[in-house]
Amino acid sequence: SKVPSITLNNGVTMPQLGFGVWQVPDVEAAKAVGTALEAGYRSIDTAAIYENEKGTGEAVAASGIARDELFVTTKLWNGEQGYDATLRAFDASLDRLGLDHVDLYLIHWPVPSADLYVDTYKAFEKIHADGRARAIGVSNFLPEHLERLLGETSVVPVLNQIELHPQLQQTQARDFHARHGIRTEAWSPLGQGRGLLEAPTVVAVARKHERTPAQVVLRWHLQLGTIVIPKSVTPSRIRENIDVFDFELDADDLAAFAALDEGRRLGPDPATFDEV
Ligand code: NAD
Repeated sequence: SKVPSITLNNGVTMPQLGFGVWQVPDVEAAKAVGTALEAGYRSIDTAAIYENEKGTGEAVAASGIARDELFVTTKLWNGEQGYDATLRAFDASLDRLGLDHVDLYLIHWPVPSADLYVDTYKAFEKIHADGRARAIGVSNFLPEHLERLLGETSVVPVLNQIELHPQLQQTQARDFHARHGIRTEAWSPLGQGRGLLEAPTVVAVARKHERTPAQVVLRWHLQLGTIVIPKSVTPSRIRENIDVFDFELDADDLAAFAALDEGRRLGPDPATFDEV
């Protein structure tokens, strides 16, 4: 595949571009993931709370692609945090996926008010030691939450999956991650298709390269060095979103994109989000 490989801090490699399935109903997930695998995606990002691990696993099984050529990520939901609850929730995720291991397991949100993420991560270390997750990491962790993990646990998370797109560039978080050997993975890389893809700067850069707005936004991410997981259920867009490895943004384009940062989230604030 033309998708570059990223080497994580434990030596495991993962594709820099994958397929996200948030808000894809389980009955549609098998079809969407099947389309993505046919289009060349080899990394799939699901989560227990998306309630589509089953459909995702069905597509993986039906694809006939060797397991070691695929990279499957799932996430632990907030209500399952805590050492024992995590071990049980992981078993249930594997069961729904129909797999004997995942490539990456993430704590979905820190939920600081529950103060369970350190114990949760210790269960992740056990799952990792048992070979049932080739890599472990976190999502939506702020630097202060990562500092605690680094101080109180022994396996450095391979990555932090955070909201990141041209209107929320996350410069401080990315710098912090880089200093600690933690990769940054961008969720909602296309800004959820709301507004960003119509922004005049994005439209102009797309015209210049004879590409679509989604494609130039994905190029911006790739050239930043982050890992991206765009989502679509539309076959033509699924293919469009992986067709981004034969052109490059230049310094002028990158300068124009730099000016789009508004520092505003589309999603919840990780410091306070505690939905279970
Ligand atoms: P996204 O930024 O990938 O945008 C997806 C939306 O953009 C689509 O629903 C569609 O409306 C539009 N779109 C997609 N391709 C397009 C194209 N080529 N042209 C025009 N419009 C297009 O948003 P997302 O789904 O929120 O994020 C991607 C993935 O990130 C999710 O599926 C999920 O796997 C992950 N995610 C994780 C968290 C977390 O808390 N860890 C939160 C949100 C999303």
